[in-house]
Amino acid sequence: MQSTAKTVGFKAGERNVFFHILTACNLQCKHCYINSAEHGTETLSKENIVSGLRLFSDEKKKSNLVFLGGEPTLHPDLADCITMAKELNYSVTVDSNGYLFHDFLKKVHPENLDYLSFSLDGPDSIINDSIRGNGVFKVCTENIGKAIAKGFQVSLIYTVSSKNIDHLHRMAPILQKLGVKRFFIQVIGLRGQSAKAGRQESSVTGDLQVSREKWLNIVPQVAEQCAETGIHVTYPKVFLDSQEKFECAGEVAENFFIFPNGRVYQCPLCEDYALHTYTIENNKLMPNPEISEKMMFPLKIEEGCVMNKLLQPDTLEYDNTDKPLYRVSCCLLKNEIY
Ligand code: SF4
Ligand code: SF4
Repeated sequence: MQSTAKTVGFKAGERNVFFHILTACNLQCKHCYINSAEHGTETLSKENIVSGLRLFSDEKKKSNLVFLGGEPTLHPDLADCITMAKELNYSVTVDSNGYLFHDFLKKVHPENLDYLSFSLDGPDSIINDSIRGNGVFKVCTENIGKAIAKGFQVSLIYTVSSKNIDHLHRMAPILQKLGVKRFFIQVIGLRGQSAKAGRQESSVTGDLQVSREKWLNIVPQVAEQCAETGIHVTYPKVFLDSQEKFECAGEVAENFFIFPNGRVYQCPLCEDYALHTYTIENNKLMPNPEISEKMMFPLKIEEGCVMNKLLQPDTLEYDNTDKPLYRVSCCLLKNEIY
């Protein structure tokens, strides 16, 4: 099947704020990208969250905010922070593992939230729970049903790895049955627990990465199938076509990944290292005086993304003259199908 997905270029004047308000979580997913040594173990106070929201809001720009954790609904003040974010004109999403702590569905009004996003990594409890933990599929799908019944716009994130790519094609009927409006397919990133798996070939997690061939054979086709049922599907570009221009979001877009220890990254691939562009100090955004990701962004290489080459060289292939066989796009570049 020929994919009709459109690559969505980085939009000038749009900013995306990914706000990790804590790193605590009730689950221990095999691919968890949280790295407490680099991201801290703090739970931000309500005051610090609100000052962070003010720091990153910009009246002149459309700003998308995603509350993240850990599990963000573990924060007792999340409902108030969502209200505050709407007052500051953010478009607001909460990414949850599905447990919806602190009476989330009662405390938050659906009109205050643009999307409530759930993470599910398999079409049944056998696949999903082998990655995310026993009983998670049941809790997550039940709460999706409750959220939709209450009037929330619900999206679903499926992180593709070697553990679940062969089951991705089973998601279309599940999404339809659940009533999910948007489907985000993510690629496993070699960060946090999955980086440990990649580096040590841990017997616990195994190698989670997916080959290029498998990704291209499966993901665009499944995205198409899901879109045919009326769902808005987004998935990472990953591999650029030969005529496509390479762009680094760190240079042409405004993305901020904020962690509870005050680090602010512009590139998610760098999050396992002290390469953050800024630090929040006394409610101000201070440039990191050390070597930072920002110095890497302008480097132009034949392979496309420079951080991918540095951190995930196994994803690249070369011909017998050492010329790369393809370029890897910015990890923030997406394909969309409506
Ligand atoms: S991936 Fe998310 S839900 Fe899973 S352990 Fe990590 S923070 Fe928790
Ligand atoms: S993933 Fe690569 S291209 Fe994208 S922001 Fe990071 S360094 Fe730049």
